[in-house]
Amino acid sequence: MASSGDFYPRYVSLPGVLGTQAVGYACAHAWMHRTENYWIHKYHHSFSEQSFVRPISANSVTVTEFVVAYALPIVLGTILFRPDVWTMRVSACIISTSNLLIHTPPSILPMDWLPTWAVTNLKHFHHHEKVSSYTMCTPHTHTHTHTHTFL
Ligand SMILES: [Zn+2]
Ligand SMILES: [Zn+2]
Repeated sequence: MASSGDFYPRYVSLPGVLGTQAVGYACAHAWMHRTENYWIHKYHHSFSEQSFVRPISANSVTVTEFVVAYALPIVLGTILFRPDVWTMRVSACIISTSNLLIHTPPSILPMDWLPTWAVTNLKHFHHHEKVSSYTMCTPHTHTHTHTHTFL
């Protein structure tokens, strides 16, 4: 049993924090696409074909979205997997970099070589075009766009 000051080994805490963040974000994202919660996430979807999607759009979220979809899953992962400071820094780098990469145009950064389960920039760019709060509820779009499991 760990005492309150103990860290878990990095081979446990790093995948633990990243996994909790991935699942937590996916849940929070689906929740924000519910009609009554879409106001939280609408601003992020204002970056689309009509405006632009560029790496800087990755950080364009409301404060509520940041707290619900970014901070909370990471805090939960920290409580569950007790990372040390190094692990938290590496986790933050991986999460932030992945977020920037999926908001980088596929013409500049092809990601189609990644396995089909991965969240690629092409999938995420398609997701940005779905501005309705219902898009993640229909089976068809669900199969093709609700692969936003990481960021
Ligand atoms: Zn969305
Ligand atoms: Zn996005």
